[in-house]
Amino acid sequence: MKLVMHGAAREVGRSCIELQSKQSRFLLDCGIKLTESGTEYPVGLERADAIRAVFLSHAHLDHTGALPLFDHRGMKCPIIATPTTKALTRLLLEDAFKIGRLQHAQLGYEQLDIDKALACMSNVQLNDSGTIDNVYYKYFDAGHIPGSSSIVLALENKKLLYTGDYNPQETLLMHGGSQDFGDVDIMITETTYGDRDHPPRTATERRLLQRIEDTLALGGKALVPSFAVGRAQEMLLLLARKDWGVPVYIDGMALEATQLLLEHPDSLKEADKLHEALRKAQQVRRGERHKIFSKQSIVITTSGMLTGGPIIDYIKHTHNDVNSAILLTGYQAEHTNGRLLMDKHHVYIDGWKTAVKCTVEQFDFSAHAGATELKRVIRKISPHTLVVQHGDPAAVEHMRLWAAALGFDVRTPSLNEVISID
Ligand SMILES: [Zn+2]
Ligand SMILES: [Zn+2]
Repeated sequence: MKLVMHGAAREVGRSCIELQSKQSRFLLDCGIKLTESGTEYPVGLERADAIRAVFLSHAHLDHTGALPLFDHRGMKCPIIATPTTKALTRLLLEDAFKIGRLQHAQLGYEQLDIDKALACMSNVQLNDSGTIDNVYYKYFDAGHIPGSSSIVLALENKKLLYTGDYNPQETLLMHGGSQDFGDVDIMITETTYGDRDHPPRTATERRLLQRIEDTLALGGKALVPSFAVGRAQEMLLLLARKDWGVPVYIDGMALEATQLLLEHPDSLKEADKLHEALRKAQQVRRGERHKIFSKQSIVITTSGMLTGGPIIDYIKHTHNDVNSAILLTGYQAEHTNGRLLMDKHHVYIDGWKTAVKCTVEQFDFSAHAGATELKRVIRKISPHTLVVQHGDPAAVEHMRLWAAALGFDVRTPSLNEVISID
């Protein structure tokens, strides 16, 4: 068999690995990379119409964003995904399309292509298996976001594990990712945090709760920008632990994603707790946001990196208040408003550079394995061949040195590289 790296090779973004058996061609994910200068698509993929199936790990756009484009180019094959991934993919693709249209971006596809790609999705439940063109597949919980999967494939007397984005650690929202894959010959691992660890999550949770308490004691508001899928729900669960004496609001896509996930309770650790947390919070209805700006409150909303969404409205009305706080709950990519806020204490609102006087703090609630955990899982699985991808060059190189010293056949492919496995 062969693996062709159409993306996520020494980079994070546009995950798209082609698996070639003697008989057929398949894709593992089909994502995009969002950069400052626009969208980057997987490279070097020819004859999309000959792809036999896409095995989809999860709904994030860096794993699904190119599906409509490839559909437009004639890819008409089953896209195998969990029902939660399918529902979230619709939400995220439609949102990206809306934003793309607002920014007059050249997307290369239409709304119709999103509908067609979604119509090609066939459901697989976690721990269920199937076969297509003599390739056996089984989906396992990856612990990354609801619906996310690590995928085991068996073909030509070899067993291959694609971790997808992976978190073996339990969180308030999710069970930890599965680690029981049996014997694996080839492991394709993500390595987003391949060269660094996260602080203990419980300490991070405590620190965030304390900052909110401090902020409220000063009479300020606490803004909690969160990614819509996963992080917003985790924040709801965390904040529901206390009675704050002020309303906890949830607004925008954070609310939409929460409602959608409650329709897929199997993908959550304790759906009833999330239900209860949402019931305790106040849902901001369309057109009613302006009533909240002057109220002392805690607000969970999107976008997590302040690149758009309702959080911009909230910051617009809060940025001069030294007693309020903006508490970032995720990774802030370079050149985003979130990163600018952390590094320079300003953001761009409607194109205007705006100084922010509030307290700003970042909390590491990552949904990816830290380096130590990842290494522990790799040693446990102990594959013959380790393919390292979905990491920046430093993380990939760190993992390569570590794995090579332990005697693994480690590969760190570059873009468009072909790996032959006999
Ligand atoms: Zn992801
Ligand atoms: Zn990813």
